[in-house]
Amino acid sequence: MKTVHCHKCTKELSNNEIALNLKLLGKHIGTLHCYQCLSEYLRCDTVRLQELAEQYKSSGCLLFQTNYTA
Ligand SMILES: [Zn+2]
Repeated sequence: MKTVHCHKCTKELSNNEIALNLKLLGKHIGTLHCYQCLSEYLRCDTVRLQELAEQYKSSGCLLFQTNYTA
């Protein structure tokens, strides 16, 4: 078990948050952000990001089937 933290505010990240970072910003980014900081960066709602994550997850996106904190 490992924990991944937001690069900016150091909040612990959920699996969906990690997957969304990879989905939106690319697989090779070294810094991950929580919904809150990501929304500031992308200038959109945190709710919108959460919906987006759920949408990707339920559509079967492989990034969201991976367990990043195992
Ligand atoms: Zn953050």
